[in-house]
Amino acid sequence: MPRDGYANLSVPSERLDELRRKFDSVDFGYSFAQWAMMSLESSFSKQEFLEKRLTHLKFGELGEHGIAVFDSKHDKLVRVFPNKQSLTCSEHGTKFCDHKLFAALHPEFNC
Ligand SMILES: [Zn+2]
Repeated sequence: MPRDGYANLSVPSERLDELRRKFDSVDFGYSFAQWAMMSLESSFSKQEFLEKRLTHLKFGELGEHGIAVFDSKHDKLVRVFPNKQSLTCSEHGTKFCDHKLFAALHPEFNC
């Protein structure tokens, strides 16, 4: 039972344990619970931003080579993937573009 005023979140324990081990290996200056809540709220805002501001872009799939993004403005499927120092877009390379912004803000993309 959670403490009064708090809620439990059911997530796969194996994935949570792995994330907790990674979290414990760094010091972000937050407790795990604080960081988890902050991350959830931040992910929600970012996804909301994507839905409102980058309406021509849609999540395609996630694969070994990054994220596939469908661009309806240009009727193209582009890939964004991490490289050594930044992100690379299959259309725009390392230059800034909406595809890389979309990838960076999308909660399913890990770089
Ligand atoms: Zn691009």
